[in-house]
Amino acid sequence: MKYDLIIIGAGAGGIFSAYEALRLHPGLSIAIFEAGNPLGQRSCPINGKNVKACIHCDTCGIMNGFGGAGAFSDGKYNITNQFGGTLYEHIGRGKAMELMEYVDTINLKFGGAGTKLYSTSNTHLKKLCLQNDLHLLDAKVRHLGTDVNYVVLKQLYDHLLKEGVKFYFRTHIDQVEQIESGYRIYAKDRYFEGSACIISTGRSGSAWMREVCERLGIQTHSNRVDIGVRVELPAAIFSHLTDELYESKIVYQTEKFQDRVRTFCMNPRGVVVSENTNGIVTVNGHSYEDPSRYTDNTNFALLVSNHFSEPFNDSNAYGESIARLSNMLGGGVIVQRFGDLIRGQRSTPSRMADNFVIPTLSATPGDLSLVIPKRQLDGIIEMVYALDKVAPGTANDSTLLYGVEVKFYNLDVAVDENLMTTCKDLFVIGDCSGVTHSLSHASASGIHVARYLYES
Ligand SMILES: Cc1cc2nc3c(=O)[nH]c(=O)nc-3n(C[C@H](O)[C@H](O)[C@H](O)COP(=O)(O)OP(=O)(O)OC[C@H]3O[C@@H](n4cnc5c(N)ncnc54)[C@H](O)[C@@H]3O)c2cc1C
Repeated sequence: MKYDLIIIGAGAGGIFSAYEALRLHPGLSIAIFEAGNPLGQRSCPINGKNVKACIHCDTCGIMNGFGGAGAFSDGKYNITNQFGGTLYEHIGRGKAMELMEYVDTINLKFGGAGTKLYSTSNTHLKKLCLQNDLHLLDAKVRHLGTDVNYVVLKQLYDHLLKEGVKFYFRTHIDQVEQIESGYRIYAKDRYFEGSACIISTGRSGSAWMREVCERLGIQTHSNRVDIGVRVELPAAIFSHLTDELYESKIVYQTEKFQDRVRTFCMNPRGVVVSENTNGIVTVNGHSYEDPSRYTDNTNFALLVSNHFSEPFNDSNAYGESIARLSNMLGGGVIVQRFGDLIRGQRSTPSRMADNFVIPTLSATPGDLSLVIPKRQLDGIIEMVYALDKVAPGTANDSTLLYGVEVKFYNLDVAVDENLMTTCKDLFVIGDCSGVTHSLSHASASGIHVARYLYES
């Protein structure tokens, strides 16, 4: 089976590249290969009652399937070059912003109209942060919410299907081979060919991406992983920030180790969730646009960035080992009261039962100091106290810390300004390229490649 364009992975990168390719060149034959299920068939069996922890399904309902890792996310599309990826290093700051703005218009067209766009421009909170040695990064953020995000994905799927895209679900691509007329990809005993090939396999396809690059002689390197916790506290404590900005990305440099700690993925009135990456259970969070689904709590991650130098070159393995340790001790995610952490004691089920903040995720009460290395844990504690100055109450005893949250960075794949590898017409985009780590950057990278291929 031969197509003009074959796309591996139906996450943000894959979806937006197909969308733009067909807009520019209607009638193009495009096939998308996705290891997971169609959107409507995606679900995670963890329900906190009879299934409390990951049972390692053959395809993960959270990470794999149409919509990729972002399908059940909070649907926050950050329009900024300050975080979310380094697409601008390849295509320029102006172009990267233009593409993210364009992605926003598509989201609005396919069901996102009426959702809020927040902005940090002209906010007095920037000054408040600076006065306390905290740095608020500039961004606009479109918050679709988990519910509207789902609607947008469904409408995009219907559109792509109508435009003739052929979808192959539950089709894990094993191998990519360069042939004279383009690329041949293999899924078990079948193969498919395309004149051009876009790989957008996200974070869950990271190990696979490394193998593909090794086989095709494409250079890669991996030297960064972020480790931390998810903080959950009463929504009122952060409401002056979240009501105005929704998501505030605040960076702090620790006094002790001079490490950067930052807030990440803020979910006002949201829920904490567990996440499975290649069998390792970590923590994450999301929230809904629909007020009837609001909770009393806000959650966000505090992450410490770790950059490694030679001879170590497998930063993800470092992050995985720490996550495995927490899984070993807690059977999954561990939760601890901030007060217990400071006093050097484990949170127990009875202390949790008396806690003022009611957790939104059923996790094992435990001791994060047995899991998180001292350097990162000290950084997190310093940051909690720093945030307490701009959002008093953050350092309350009852604030909950869930661990561990690990932000894996995919290996950086060597790509040029068109996101093309050293193999002609083989593109690596989205999170699996290492260039992006967010919905807006991944989507924009897909648009960029489609324009390179079909805009003339
Ligand atoms: C719970 C959660 C919440 C998040 N919230 C946000 C948010 O609010 N805002 C934000 O900007 N980012 C968020 N992110 C990150 C965001 O989802 C990713 O940055 C984005 O999805 C990356 O898009 P992508 O297309 O590169 O990869 P993905 O979305 O990961 O898609 C890759 C797809 O490729 C498929 N695949 C992998 N390997 C193969 C293979 N060999 N063959 C076939 N298919 C394969 C996978 O099944 C997957 O569906 C969140 C992530 C998670 C997990």
